[in-house]
Amino acid sequence: MEKDNQAVHIIRDRMARAAQRAGRRAEDITLVAVSKTKPIGDIVDAYASGVRHFGENRTEELEKKAQALGHLPGLQWHFIGHLQSRQSEIVARHAHFFHAVDRVRIAQRLSSQLGEMQRNLPVFIQINVSGEASKQGFAGEDWAHNSQQREELLGAIKEISILPNLEILGLMTMAPLDAPEGVLRSVFRNMAGLSAHVREQLPDLAARQLSMGMSDDFEIAIEEGATLVRIGSAIFGKRG
Ligand SMILES: *Cc1c(COP(=O)(O)O)cnc(C)c1O
Repeated sequence: MEKDNQAVHIIRDRMARAAQRAGRRAEDITLVAVSKTKPIGDIVDAYASGVRHFGENRTEELEKKAQALGHLPGLQWHFIGHLQSRQSEIVARHAHFFHAVDRVRIAQRLSSQLGEMQRNLPVFIQINVSGEASKQGFAGEDWAHNSQQREELLGAIKEISILPNLEILGLMTMAPLDAPEGVLRSVFRNMAGLSAHVREQLPDLAARQLSMGMSDDFEIAIEEGATLVRIGSAIFGKRG
């Protein structure tokens, strides 16, 4: 028997209040519950509490959970982690969204696998806005001042945008861990600025979404324009 996940309601309430502070509508922000490392039962409980979007970052785990929960109507899988080429087929087959396009090659590979499966996949271009070398993603932290970085990024997005069976929904980023609020806010604001710039430069792309914000910073991300937040530990508890 599933049980209600109380944390889901608390998070939804905090999301709604952050949206309100920014003059935004709560319905325009999607909660992706990051269930990585957590058991199937936790996902069933969160689903019973109204969550439909779940995030995973390991392909074997995505495959196992997607197969086990295929009977739950409307459940959508978001693959949010770095994807290695040899595992891309699992994402092409099971994911409903992919947040971490961090190189043109992986997009090309997914595109051709999706074509064979006759599936489409909405994706996000991952941007390394924090400039940390350890983070995946296209360089983008200095887009406003560095025209070479900006041109390279726009060129890559353009190349990905013409691939069949992939649809670019927008940009995704991870803020630095444990940074002060002011730093987080400026990272998210920089990302929102980049998103507006991409839309202006590539008007045929309907890339309006922004996947940003996690357990410790989602309210700031929403205030700065996030349309999807990826929340794990605040819903499911700390990971072991
Ligand atoms: C794990 C993870 C999250 C969720 O992190 P929490 O701090 O537990 O909310 C969000 N996004 C990505 C890409 C992750 O890998």
